[in-house]
Amino acid sequence: MKNTPSRRAARRLKKLEAERKKKEKGKKPTDGITKAKCKICMMQVVVTLKNTLKLDEHIAARHAKCTLADCFPDETPEARALRSAAAKKASAAAPKYKPDKPLAVKKKKKKRK
Ligand SMILES: [Zn+2]
Repeated sequence: MKNTPSRRAARRLKKLEAERKKKEKGKKPTDGITKAKCKICMMQVVVTLKNTLKLDEHIAARHAKCTLADCFPDETPEARALRSAAAKKASAAAPKYKPDKPLAVKKKKKKRK
């Protein structure tokens, strides 16, 4: 089997292409996606936690006279802040690990003379 320069170059190109695709894929936000339902027309709009542009687009396209609070009362910055604060509080209140059995008084106690 010969490894000609052109063949190597082709392989390198292929690798580069794959890496580029990977990077592009990585750009897509996959986490924090939520579905917000418009209160006025009941349409579901998929939004990410960081990108609420779709909501604005929906409002502009369908309910030009309405505000974010009218269409998506749950997706206003205030509501989001409240929600995240509540989530933080909940996670802080609920310990991750259930405490084991209540600490019993040590029964065995070495007696020292
Ligand atoms: Zn709507």
